[in-house]
Amino acid sequence: MTQQIDVAVIGAGIAGLSAALTLGRLGRSVVLLSDGVPGGELLKIERIDGVPGHAEGVAGYDLCPTVQEQAEALGVRLLDVPASAVAAQDDGWLVSSDAGDHLARAVVVATGTVMARLGVPGEERLEGKGVSDCASCDGPLLRGKTAVVAGGGDSAMQEALVLADHAAKVFMLVRDDQLHGQASYRDLVLGNPRIEVRYGSIPVEILGGDHVTHVRARSLASGAEEDIAADAIFTFVGLVPNTSVVEGLVPLGGTGRIAVDPAMRTKARGICAAGNVREGSPHRAAGGMGDAAAAAVAIDAYLATGDWPAA
Ligand SMILES: Cc1cc2nc3c(=O)[nH]c(=O)nc-3n(C[C@H](O)[C@H](O)[C@H](O)COP(=O)(O)OP(=O)(O)OC[C@H]3O[C@@H](n4cnc5c(N)ncnc54)[C@H](O)[C@@H]3O)c2cc1C
Repeated sequence: MTQQIDVAVIGAGIAGLSAALTLGRLGRSVVLLSDGVPGGELLKIERIDGVPGHAEGVAGYDLCPTVQEQAEALGVRLLDVPASAVAAQDDGWLVSSDAGDHLARAVVVATGTVMARLGVPGEERLEGKGVSDCASCDGPLLRGKTAVVAGGGDSAMQEALVLADHAAKVFMLVRDDQLHGQASYRDLVLGNPRIEVRYGSIPVEILGGDHVTHVRARSLASGAEEDIAADAIFTFVGLVPNTSVVEGLVPLGGTGRIAVDPAMRTKARGICAAGNVREGSPHRAAGGMGDAAAAAVAIDAYLATGDWPAA
C-alpha cells in the first residue's frame, strides 16, 4: 500500500541526514532512504577537516551515527533500501523502493557522487586486491609497504597523508604540473619525506596476478613508461554524480550534477537537491549540511504555501 508522507529524502550521506534532521525539526513527516549504512562518503574518512566545532577534525564513523540518531529522535523514518524510481503522481512524487511506495509531497535528492574510475587495464580485475579508494580502511594493511595515489586534489592529498602514516613510501601521480586544493595539505604533502610527487604522470595500467604488484606510469611530456613496484593504488581522479534515480525529471548542469537555485530548488516542483550531487557543490561536509538546511527550509515553505519559484 502506498504511504503518504511530506518528504522523501533520497540518500543518507551527510547532506541527506542533515536534510532529514532539519525537516524533522520543522515537524514534517520524513522518510530517509539509505543505500547502505548511513553516512555515505564520510564513513570512510578518519579525520574530516573543516567541520565547525571540531578543531581537530572528526571521524565520519563518529559524526554520522550522531546525526542519524538526532534525525531519528525527531521522528525521521530510516529505510535501509535505495530508492529505485521517482515518478510524478497527483501533486507530488511517487518514490519506489523495496520497502514499498511512498507518495511524497516533496523530495530531497542527496544521492552524492561515486569516485571516477581510471579506466585502465587491471583496475577492475584488482578491485579490492590492492585497488582502493579508502586510505583509512586499507592503509593499516600497508605497514612498511609502497602505495601509489592517483590524483592531485584535496582528497588525493588527504589520503596520501593518511597512507604515509602506515606505508614506507607513497608515490603521488599528478596529471598536472602542480598539486591543487588546500595550501595546508600541499605543505604537509611536500614536507613529508615518505611522499614522492611525480608531476605530469598518469597511471596507464595496474599489474599483478592475485594482487597489485606494480603500477605502470606514463610521463605526459616524454611518453616514457615506468613500472613502479607497489602493493596498492588509491584513485582520486574525480567524482561522478548519482543522478539516475531522477533522470529526466530535473535538469542537470554542465558537470552532470543537478541544477539548483540558491535555495536548492530544482525546476521540478517540490524537488530539491543537496550535497555533492548538486551543481556548484563545494564538495565539503559543511557544504552538504548547509545545502540540507536551505533545502529543508525551502521545502517547508513550499508545503505551507504551494509556491515554487522557478529555479
Ligand atoms: C578522501 C576524501 C576525503 C574528504 N575529506 C573531507 C574533509 O576533510 N572535510 C570535508 O568537509 N569534506 C571532505 N570530503 C568530502 C565529503 O566527504 C563530501 O563532500 C560529503 O561527504 C558529501 O556528502 P553527500 O551527502 O553529498 O554525499 P555522499 O556522502 O556520497 O552520500 C550520498 C549517499 O546516497 C546514497 N545513494 C545514492 N543513490 C541512492 C539511491 N537511489 N537511494 C538511496 N541512496 C542513494 C549513496 O550510496 C551515499 O550513501 C572528502 C571526500 C573524500 C573522497
